[in-house]
Amino acid sequence: MTAEFPASLRKPQREALHAAGLGTPRAMLFWLPKGHLDRSTAMPVAQLAEGEHTIRARVRSLTVPRFRRRVPIAQAVLEDDTGKVGAVWFGRYDVKARLKPGVELLVSGRVGMGKGKKPGLQFHNPDFEEIGGEAEGLCTGGVIPVYPAVKGVGPNSLRRAVKEALELEGAKVAEYLPDAARPGPPLPGALRDLHFPADSAALAAVLPRWIFEEFFLYELAMALRRRAAVREGGGRIEVPPDVDRRIRARLPFALTAAQERAVAEIRADLASGRPMNRLLQGDVGSGKTAVAFATMLAAVAAGGQAALLVPTETLAEQHFRTLSGWLKGSRTECVLLTGSLKAAARREALARLADGSAHVAVGTHALIEPDVAFRRLLVAVVDEQHRFGVLQRAALAAKGDRPHVLVMTATPIPRTLALTAFGDLDVTTLDELPPGRTPVVTCVLPADALQPVWDDVRREVAAGRQAFLVYPLVDASDRIAAKSAIEMHEHLSRDVFPDLAVGLLHGRMKADEKAAAMDAFRASRTHVLVSTVVIEVGVDVPNATVMIIGNAERFGLATLHQLRGRIGRSKHASKCWLAAGDAGGDALKRLRVLEETQDGFRIAEEDLRMRGPGEFLGARQSGAPEFHLADLARDADVLVKAREAAFGLVKADPDLKKHPRLRKEIATRLGERMGLGGIL
Ligand code: ADP
Ligand code: MG
Repeated sequence: MTAEFPASLRKPQREALHAAGLGTPRAMLFWLPKGHLDRSTAMPVAQLAEGEHTIRARVRSLTVPRFRRRVPIAQAVLEDDTGKVGAVWFGRYDVKARLKPGVELLVSGRVGMGKGKKPGLQFHNPDFEEIGGEAEGLCTGGVIPVYPAVKGVGPNSLRRAVKEALELEGAKVAEYLPDAARPGPPLPGALRDLHFPADSAALAAVLPRWIFEEFFLYELAMALRRRAAVREGGGRIEVPPDVDRRIRARLPFALTAAQERAVAEIRADLASGRPMNRLLQGDVGSGKTAVAFATMLAAVAAGGQAALLVPTETLAEQHFRTLSGWLKGSRTECVLLTGSLKAAARREALARLADGSAHVAVGTHALIEPDVAFRRLLVAVVDEQHRFGVLQRAALAAKGDRPHVLVMTATPIPRTLALTAFGDLDVTTLDELPPGRTPVVTCVLPADALQPVWDDVRREVAAGRQAFLVYPLVDASDRIAAKSAIEMHEHLSRDVFPDLAVGLLHGRMKADEKAAAMDAFRASRTHVLVSTVVIEVGVDVPNATVMIIGNAERFGLATLHQLRGRIGRSKHASKCWLAAGDAGGDALKRLRVLEETQDGFRIAEEDLRMRGPGEFLGARQSGAPEFHLADLARDADVLVKAREAAFGLVKADPDLKKHPRLRKEIATRLGERMGLGGIL
């Protein structure tokens, strides 16, 4: 039976829907629209302007099809009592059959200026339906749903499939949300009015329910995961006072109050008898590495091992160097595991992790490859978590028997995102920088007025300091006129600083070249380091006091803030110059936020507002939740309510026994995506 669904579509489209998991009316019903177009009111043709519009008009004439590079082009002139307007379609074979002069239509779409012999307003690829005829109200003449794309199925076919699903099963869907957790009217009406509302008021009445529901089900999954983790139980690690003393003695500084709090919370987790799942977030430079160190050494002292997963080789090497330095003279052995390790060295490192003679592993993705095995992994730390996904976190944890997991991020994550992407974690925040930091003075300026910047660099270098110059791309590219690091390096070393040592670091260099460039800069053999954003994460050279970021308008504020955190790491005053290459007013205004504040959280919230969540969660693989209707920035308050409701519900009814319909709903809709298999 279901193989025939949706009967209104052709076989290839049906198959495409099946492939996308939308092969049943039930699944199709819950393919929620991501928005709606209000095409309920027609505008007189004479009043058309550029933009999205709907008209009610007759076909006056039709020219079909001309071909350009084998693409059919149909053109029509449409008219109503007030005037005429052109319409053009590319690549549509059905236009000729459906449009005959005299036919009455509703037409909706984008109106723009046509080019060519007779410029004027025209519709580009508009949707249309014949009035009175076969009109289905699928694409115009009402409030029209817009669905997330499904490969191989056009927007109108999607609408038709949903409509068919509504007719088949729409009336049968029983309400599954508890009354207390449901804003707005119940199912099944709420489903119909979401997909094909009678008017915009009907839609407005049900939207709050769906926005809430998206968050609520997601948070429910998080609450269930967390409940499962609590039940699992895990190795208990106690840290006796003498061990604590020895760990601290390894650090060249005393912990800040914020670090102390973090260590205390983590120790409590370790001793709790269930696996820790904690997010440590702290602004760049807040000293997360030391907290990770204290956590990992607790595992080693308990006779186990610890692993630190980081996103780049540069950072892996730096952490390895730092940790090895702190461990010098102790019996704790640290190994480095990266992709560029030679086969023999890799074999040796693996053997030592497997037999337990190495206690701490620092590495990139190489660390989570299948052949890496630990004798007894008790603590897994993921640094710069926003570069990794939930699955990578899980892959590392799977190297041990329910190890304690600490994930760290230097990108301050706005609260709303922390709640969703990391909703199954406890959160600790380092809200204090180590002593001796100087606030970084930040200055936005146009890229063609760099003389004061070069003077600044000279002054600082003369005083024994160093400078970072960050450029966004590796190669020059015509397409985007960004200055490349390579070009810039040439220009600077030849024309601007012929007397200084200028180093170069970018992502396309070989691993050993990168390491050499970093070493030279760290040892002050180079005064100025020209680099791409490879230095964004974690690079620590306290002697650098100037940073110039070219084409700053291309970066998100959070990235810029992160970059800026590479300086201001010593008692010397630091300065960050943001050179905006091609900056309109908006770009400059956006950058000025950085002149005003060093508060990473404020900057992050600002970025979320202006650019959406992508900036924080990186690529899709980062496990960022995708919501159709809900918007993390706009609906933050709804998210908080949904989370409270979901966690409250799981607390009161841990297995959702009293909510069988809800339980079934979440299992079918989120079970696979959220890894609820063994939980529900
Ligand atoms: P992040 O949180 O960005 O990872 P790091 O762990 O790299 O920060 O620490 C930044 C710098 O601060 C490092 O040079 C580190 O040695 C130093 N640092 C960390 N904690 C302290 C402290 N309590 N006192 C003094 N310096 C510290
Ligand atoms: Mg760090």
